[in-house]
Amino acid sequence: MATLFGRVFSGSDEMYRLAQEALDDVSKRFADSEPVAFPDTAYYLACIYAMSGKKITNLGELKEIMEWIKSQMTRNNKTHDIFTSGVATACAAEVIEACKYIGNPDPYGHDPLWGHCTDAEVRELGVPLVTGDIPGFVVFIGSAPTDEQALALVKSYQSKSVFVFMVGGIIDQVKRLGMKTGFNVRVVPLGYDLWSVSHVVSVAIRAALIFGAVQPGDYDGIRRYTFDRVNAVINAFAPVDDMTVACGAGAISLGFPVVTNETENMWRVPKSLIIQEDVDKFVETSLEARGIKIKITNIDIPVAFANAFEGEIIRRGDMQFEADGSRVDCLELVRTREASEVEDHKIEVIGPDFDEFEVGSKISMATIVDVAGKKMQSDFEPVFERKFHAYLNCIEGVMHTGQRDMIRIRVSKDTYEAGFRAKHFGEVLYAKIKSEFDVVVDKCQVTIVTDPAKVSELRKEANEIYDKRDERLLSLTDENVNEFYTCIMCQSFSPSHVCIVTPERLGLCGAVSWLDAKATHELDPSGPCQVVEKTGVIDEEIGKWDSVNDAVRKYSQGALEVVSLYSIMEDPMTSCGCFECICGIEPFSNGVVIVNREHAGLTPLGMSFSEMASMTGGGVQTPGFMGHGKHFIASKKFMKAEGGVQRIVWMPKALKDQVAEKLNATAQELYGIENFTDMIADETVTDDAEALVEFLTEKGHPALSLDPLM
Ligand code: SF4
Ligand code: ZN
Repeated sequence: MATLFGRVFSGSDEMYRLAQEALDDVSKRFADSEPVAFPDTAYYLACIYAMSGKKITNLGELKEIMEWIKSQMTRNNKTHDIFTSGVATACAAEVIEACKYIGNPDPYGHDPLWGHCTDAEVRELGVPLVTGDIPGFVVFIGSAPTDEQALALVKSYQSKSVFVFMVGGIIDQVKRLGMKTGFNVRVVPLGYDLWSVSHVVSVAIRAALIFGAVQPGDYDGIRRYTFDRVNAVINAFAPVDDMTVACGAGAISLGFPVVTNETENMWRVPKSLIIQEDVDKFVETSLEARGIKIKITNIDIPVAFANAFEGEIIRRGDMQFEADGSRVDCLELVRTREASEVEDHKIEVIGPDFDEFEVGSKISMATIVDVAGKKMQSDFEPVFERKFHAYLNCIEGVMHTGQRDMIRIRVSKDTYEAGFRAKHFGEVLYAKIKSEFDVVVDKCQVTIVTDPAKVSELRKEANEIYDKRDERLLSLTDENVNEFYTCIMCQSFSPSHVCIVTPERLGLCGAVSWLDAKATHELDPSGPCQVVEKTGVIDEEIGKWDSVNDAVRKYSQGALEVVSLYSIMEDPMTSCGCFECICGIEPFSNGVVIVNREHAGLTPLGMSFSEMASMTGGGVQTPGFMGHGKHFIASKKFMKAEGGVQRIVWMPKALKDQVAEKLNATAQELYGIENFTDMIADETVTDDAEALVEFLTEKGHPALSLDPLM
């Protein structure tokens, strides 16, 4: 009879042999100098890079790494433990996968198979992971006993917001039953072959490199990071072959338990290898094995509600109707009321319900949430209101974009047919606001208005309120508040990272403004957002205060000493990894380029977003590079120490368009520059450093004549 060790060894030998074959095969078609890379990553072949420290860039190097992989296989090398053979198996699998990408940037086609996940995709997971909106990951391997069981398992994880990766037959099983998959709905079919599992190992490992600043080659550091911080679990269906057993050993080595219904030639290893013969109990067993805690929101609606649906897209042809604020009157509003004016859990619909509209209609809709509470402050209204977007998007078959009176909401035909009606929006908003803001909201009622005349009247009232809020926001400057806030939410992944959130500098993830931080503090006084009294000014130009330094020292557990809030060169703020944008100095133009996560192309630095992003992160200060939120770009405090927004020389066009109005206003007010964004280059102008300087010279861009940055 085989032993567990025997199966791991023979599985890793087999994967190694296949890797060798794949290499032999590509070598017939390509020279050793042929580039080898996965798309949009700064971490080379991440498993191999992280484990060995070696940067593979071409076929010759890929061939050479086989020697190192062999050295990690432990049959004849008793200095490593058995699980290291598992990691070597994942590295061999990565070699096979890398071969597929030689001469073909997208061998999987993304429809539905995904293969490699980009750095931007990994970074996108940062915020939901720290907030617990993604409580963990599950990786399925093989086929469930029946299609129905496969679908039930995947849906069960999805409804708990656990991110699902699939390898093998289960992909077709859920497809046959019509399930939508993709990164946006957090159910990702990696590939049919077992070796495609290396793409999810790569995701876990890049989390350590990106968010944890673990150094490539620090094998134990990587294992410690994934063990402590990445909540992943493997579900392997019988029959489990030796190669799967070997991959399972690799997973266990990274701290990910394996749950399987295989009983033949299988062994129980407490907490790591768990036999669960009843597939229907996989979810329960897995969550328990990895200690994954699920936030429960029981909401009385006829469709699922989960974070996994946040990115779901509803196409015109699939929609039952839409509320479109660009065509008809629509709005969302939170109002603070006296306790006597609010009836808790009252949900009222004024106007026709959804079954009275023709398919494809554009309807008027106002969603009004009235709240009352002793600790409620009007400053929290916009904080709650902005959350509508996330809440409504979590409904299966509902897509929400925009805010205030510029919203668009689509409801899918399937969701409508499941019985979803206007009052269900109310149920969702009521449940979420009451559960997330219970400290300040004692009573909450929701009114949904679909009568066009009434919505149009309400829009006038709402606009007055929005205007007042905008005035309040404008009056909120770093100068005229007495306190800033820390945010250390990201420490679960970047242990020493601290954001200092000020009115004019929001958190780098873009999700935490000063008002958000203030509300978070009020809701959870001992939580991630702590007050930093603005005292002991050292230098207001570059944004240095004694109290800020004390706070970063305390909350980074001594890892950081000094931070300048307004400088990119001198003690800049650290980055965790989930930043919306990265800004880096461009030496030839004496300015900076900014690139957002969504932009896939190169910048004039010769680097993509991923490559620039890899220059900073993990809570380390890196002068010359800075992660930040989109809204920071138009701030008067953006690089104030180095001359402010005048330093911006290049941005992707889409980002530029997004920030143009506010950025132009700032440049006009501070420096008297008209239409500043016309002077900023983008990818339609050039992504070449020399051509950039020519363009800037022609436009008379101010950066060229500012003091040298370096
Ligand atoms: Fe993370 Fe900073 Fe955003 Fe807080 S504000 S969630 S620490 S990036
Ligand atoms: Zn972060």
